[in-house]
Formats: sequence, structure tokens, C-alpha cells
Amino acid sequence: MAAICEACGGRTEEVTNPYFGKALAVHEHVIMCSQCGHVRFEERDVVRAPAVAVKREGPLLRFWHWFAHQS
Ligand SMILES: [Zn+2]
Repeated sequence: MAAICEACGGRTEEVTNPYFGKALAVHEHVIMCSQCGHVRFEERDVVRAPAVAVKREGPLLRFWHWFAHQS
């Protein structure tokens, strides 16, 4: 589906998202402006919003918090 770039008004094209299925990429296609490179996502591709990852503190961060509370 061609659309107009919301950033520059140029022509956009739908491209396959190379990151789809990896990490947090939930969009199979992205709309990219061939003029300025502005990218937006196709909302219809969203299968499910990724659950916000539970923030897990690594040992280093835990140590940092401990350290910060000492002073
Ligand atoms: Zn553009």
C-alpha cells in the first residue's frame, strides 16, 4: 500500500522488515520513504503488542544500586 511520507511528503514503499520475528520486531512490513528514509510501521501487521519485558537487574546493576545506597 503506497502512502505519502509523513515527514517529507515523498513517496513511500512497503518493504519487508528484515528484523521481523527477531527481538521486539512485531511488524512484518515497514513503510519506508524512498526520498528521506523515514520509516513507519504498518499497524495492521501487529499481531500482538509485545509484553513489556520484566526489568531484570543484572548483578552489576544490583551492585551499583547497593553501592549507590552506601553513600
Ligand atoms: Zn520522506
